Amino acid sequence: MYPSSFDYFAPTSVDDVVKLLKENPEGKIIAGGHSLLPMMKLRLAAPASLIDIGKVPGISGIREEGGNIVIGARTTYDQILKSDVIKQALPVVIDAASVVGDIQVRNRGTIGGSIAHADPAADFPAVLLVLDASVNATGPNGQRTVAIDDMFVDMFTTSLEPEELVTEISIPRPSAKTGVAYQKFSHPASGYAIVGVGASVTIGDDGKVSAARVSVTGAGPVAVRAGGTEAALVGQEPTADNVKAAAQKASDGMTFLGDIHAGEEYRAHLTRVFAERALNHAIERARG
Ligand SMILES: Cc1cc2nc3c(=O)[nH]c(=O)nc-3n(C[C@H](O)[C@H](O)[C@H](O)COP(=O)(O)OP(=O)(O)OC[C@H]3O[C@@H](n4cnc5c(N)ncnc54)[C@H](O)[C@@H]3O)c2cc1C
Repeated sequence: MYPSSFDYFAPTSVDDVVKLLKENPEGKIIAGGHSLLPMMKLRLAAPASLIDIGKVPGISGIREEGGNIVIGARTTYDQILKSDVIKQALPVVIDAASVVGDIQVRNRGTIGGSIAHADPAADFPAVLLVLDASVNATGPNGQRTVAIDDMFVDMFTTSLEPEELVTEISIPRPSAKTGVAYQKFSHPASGYAIVGVGASVTIGDDGKVSAARVSVTGAGPVAVRAGGTEAALVGQEPTADNVKAAAQKASDGMTFLGDIHAGEEYRAHLTRVFAERALNHAIERARG
């Protein structure tokens, strides 16, 4: 199916993007187009104009800055996969990027697009939640930083304002005693997460878990932290039994989606199973 007609703009600065968003309230940013274009072709979205950020300088690429890894919003999964900085500092990001869709999706899809789109089955919302990332956005009132915990509100809904452009994502470099992992049960055709679980575990000098973050995507309408699992693990020895018991709480209090691919009960089961796997992998990494 063809999308409905639209105006097209190709601004060359962040300020011009913001100006165009303000002047075109029915307009939408387009980055890699791998989420927006399929929706337009299905007529689930019909923006009156597309504001292509492909020519905007300064919003792509990866750098280290003051203990943080900063990834430009327009950076593609493929660029992430080729980054030595990411390979060295954030292997979990490599794990996640390598299982996004297929080569074509990874060549075009961007990390900023993934955040802004907030697809309930996307991988990066869960990965960025466990990494305690923050998102820089620019809008009519200037720049602001949004903690990732405050970003995802509901299905396809974030706390970004309609006139805001995500410019970069900042990720604190995990400490040497922190291991981070991501495990997903993929849809066999698209690669999207039927359930994906991220886990970050820090082991203290006493050998016990001193901090834990666990996140779930795909299972419900929006990526969320699994607070029950986190609380059950902190202060405990990271033994197989303790991990299993904590992982059993991953589905507590969550809203699950049911569809032709997986029912609610099955997604809840997968959430617990993949929480255990992700936690064990994170602990293995934390131990070095
Ligand atoms: C076949 C297929 C398989 C896929 N499989 C997976 C998968 O396994 N896992 C996964 O996570 N994803 C998957 N995706 C989605 C893919 O990763 C998306 O491309 C990506 O999530 C969105 O990035 P994009 O650059 O394509 O965004 P676009 O499609 O260009 O934009 C998506 C939305 O974000 C907004 N937007 C984009 N950039 C910005 C910005 N910088 N600031 C503010 N708003 C912005 C746009 O206005 C739009 O509303 C798949 C897609 C396809 C087509």
